[in-house]
Amino acid sequence: LPKSVDVLIIGAGAAGLMCAASAGQRGRSVLVLDHANKVGKKILMSGGGRCNFTNLYTSAENFYSRNPHFCKSALARYSQWDFIALVEKHGVSYHEKTLGQLFCDNKSKDILDLLLAECRAAKAQVRTRCAISSIESGQGGYRVESSLGTVHCESLVVATGGLSIPTMGATGFGYDIARQFGLNIIPTRAALVPFTQHKRQLERQDSLPGSSLSVTASCGEGSFHEQMLFTHRGLSGPAVLQISSHWREGEKVTFDLAPDRDLADWLQQRRRESPEIHLHSVLSELWTKKLVQFFLQRQHIDSRPLKQFTEIELRELGAKLQVWTLVPDGTEGYRTAEVTLGGVDTDQISSRTMECKTQPGLYFVGEVLDVTGWLGGFNFQWAWASGHAAGEVA
Ligand code: FAD
Repeated sequence: LPKSVDVLIIGAGAAGLMCAASAGQRGRSVLVLDHANKVGKKILMSGGGRCNFTNLYTSAENFYSRNPHFCKSALARYSQWDFIALVEKHGVSYHEKTLGQLFCDNKSKDILDLLLAECRAAKAQVRTRCAISSIESGQGGYRVESSLGTVHCESLVVATGGLSIPTMGATGFGYDIARQFGLNIIPTRAALVPFTQHKRQLERQDSLPGSSLSVTASCGEGSFHEQMLFTHRGLSGPAVLQISSHWREGEKVTFDLAPDRDLADWLQQRRRESPEIHLHSVLSELWTKKLVQFFLQRQHIDSRPLKQFTEIELRELGAKLQVWTLVPDGTEGYRTAEVTLGGVDTDQISSRTMECKTQPGLYFVGEVLDVTGWLGGFNFQWAWASGHAAGEVA
């Protein structure tokens, strides 16, 4: 290892590599250290192998933080359009999947290769399998002891990410560094994570795993209109992952199972049009056969021709079938969560530079901060924007 560098970055993930490239391009000597055997593991596994690297509609509203304004400055100065320009500069082909979500046409590795090429061009060094044992401030900078040797740096950037997926190298080390320098940590919790549900709530669930439907999932102030998926352990899919960021233990989650129509009105209309048709056949226009069976059994409703229900009965039945309210048993936790809510309190961090206000030369970027995006490419956009903000000044 070099004995001294201008900028030392801990964590060679999305934010750390972006920061390294930006700082290196300014002519700063940059070293990135990571304890894992490979860099950018989460980039590689992201977006089902195709990396949802940004979102066309990124704005501050797509992020959770105790200070909702904190993310604005960095997102404005390094926007989704800046990252798209970088992707195009490297000839990486991509497409919009849904809701502004941009994915690689080929594989996530294209994004990692792009970042590493930028780091090489900026002469930033990246070293893996390096355990950091201690950090001390002094002599106008920081002294970092590691398994590969001691390095002195002027600026220290903490880019160690959140706690999700410990088997991919996630640790709470960034929070430890923050505490060492007297910073506050907003309590963390797993987010963008599936719900677990005991069988009693999903009676006929043996046949359900794999079934999906479009819903509006609501909890507290959150509401998301996306797909829900039944799994062997409970519920997943984008709608569930999104609403998990709002949910707290013991709270109810409400699913509108037919978000594009009023089922009570619709069933009346269908009865007028086709009185002989059976209830289950009508509902099969909305849901798979297995789901129709599950939702009818859950409400103890027997299927009959629509003409055999009175108008009032059909109205009540429509209302019952429309909404499913349940209290999830829990979540799958950090084992499968995509992100971590909470983290280093932004109160003590400059929103323009990501530098700690009370500790000159110490920066925090990416998911380690108390800034957490929705599902849909927002978390990477935050990593690029915050990494770039620090890389411009460190
Ligand atoms: P990370 O990318 O996690 O990087 C942190 C780095 O720090 C790692 O390389 C780690 O090894 C290193 N590190 C940790 N502790 C130490 C230590 N003690 N010493 C040295 N190094 C350390 N977001 C999207 O926007 N779109 C997606 O498609 C998407 N898909 C995802 C899929 C999965 C399965 C997961 C888990 C997450 C996904 N995310 C996605 C979220 C996204 O991956 C993260 O928000 C993003 O990677 C955060 O960037 P970061 O640089 O802050 O942290």
